[in-house]
Amino acid sequence: MRIAQLAGRTVLLTPEGAIDVAAASEGRFTGDLFEQWDDLAAWAPGADPSLARPYDEADLEAPVRAPRQIFAVALNYRPHTAEAGYEEPAAPLVFTKFPTCLTGPYATIELPPGHVDWELELVAVIGREAHRVPVEKGWDPVVALTVGQDLSERISQLAGRPAQFSLGKSYPGFGPIGPALVSLDEVPDRDDLELTCELSGQAVQHDRTGNMIFPIPRLVSYLSDFCTLLPGDLIFTGTPAGVGNRRVPQRFLTPDDELVSRIGGVGEMRHHFRRTP
Ligand code: ZN
Repeated sequence: MRIAQLAGRTVLLTPEGAIDVAAASEGRFTGDLFEQWDDLAAWAPGADPSLARPYDEADLEAPVRAPRQIFAVALNYRPHTAEAGYEEPAAPLVFTKFPTCLTGPYATIELPPGHVDWELELVAVIGREAHRVPVEKGWDPVVALTVGQDLSERISQLAGRPAQFSLGKSYPGFGPIGPALVSLDEVPDRDDLELTCELSGQAVQHDRTGNMIFPIPRLVSYLSDFCTLLPGDLIFTGTPAGVGNRRVPQRFLTPDDELVSRIGGVGEMRHHFRRTP
């Protein structure tokens, strides 16, 4: 199933359109999405397609509103690690994007002063509380995948010794996710999905999630050795090569750009930009 937030309502996205979950279920699914996830997944295939309505994709919002924790992983693809000039990490390198940076899959995003760069990433959505998860059970707490951009203002991200990543990656709108939470049974191969990022018609990033240095089960296991993972938490799993600050010449986002972020079987986001007034 594909669960989205449309103009403040939880909807099921189907080929016929959006089905309002609370109305179609006659009020059965109005509580916490993740507490009801398994029942919702069982109900969704039987939802009445005649209740589907066309919708404006611009009304789609971030499919998770207010996660308590957002984990993000640096240098999780070898070519990106090399372009960034680092050695391959021995363990996941983790920072956070503060949750107020989240925005929807078709938003127009403000560019603060500086060098704002793109980072297409697969985002794993935690649905079950978990602590100390063994690697072989690393998929268990994950109930869905979605597309994410780890937008980053490079000057503030890389200032200081050691650099502190989180603030320069947490401006309002710097964490677009969506368009939907896609349950794991919907994707062709949860361990190997094609990622493509296009900037104003030019492919800038292209890789497969099967090439991650630390695949999702490793990340879940590693993070859960430290933190208790909570329903609704997000894991930005790292970006492939092709970011703007490692290009020659460097290239950063401008108000003239359209940024398309696509993961095969998961979905596509499209963003435009304007300067902060
Ligand atoms: Zn990133």
